[in-house]
Amino acid sequence: MPIAPFGAVLLILLGTTLVGMTLWSLFATVFSSPGHPPSDKFRMTPATYNRLFPAGQDVSAEQVREQLGNDTVLVMRTHDGRPRYCERCESIKPDRAHHCSVCHKCILRMDHHCLCT
Ligand SMILES: [Zn+2]
Ligand SMILES: [Zn+2]
Repeated sequence: MPIAPFGAVLLILLGTTLVGMTLWSLFATVFSSPGHPPSDKFRMTPATYNRLFPAGQDVSAEQVREQLGNDTVLVMRTHDGRPRYCERCESIKPDRAHHCSVCHKCILRMDHHCLCT
């Protein structure tokens, strides 16, 4: 039986390693939590949200931080200047968070959320 040339063995090892790393990354993504806004920091009823952030009032990041009582900086706003709010989760949405219709929860960094999970 002929022995495979060194280059062929190297290619097989490289290919196997790359496929293994790809599968490992996929499963690590599928089985890890995508991250949700912490309820102790952002959860509030719609009534509280409307009281703290009345419609049409353009609030600064500093005011939002004071109202929420935590050190999170929220830059993104709704069209009327208020911090973004998810009515399904009853929670303020941090920047880059969006409600996922598959998971039925808000997801931090939705732009990196895998819909396979
Ligand atoms: Zn999801
Ligand atoms: Zn939500």
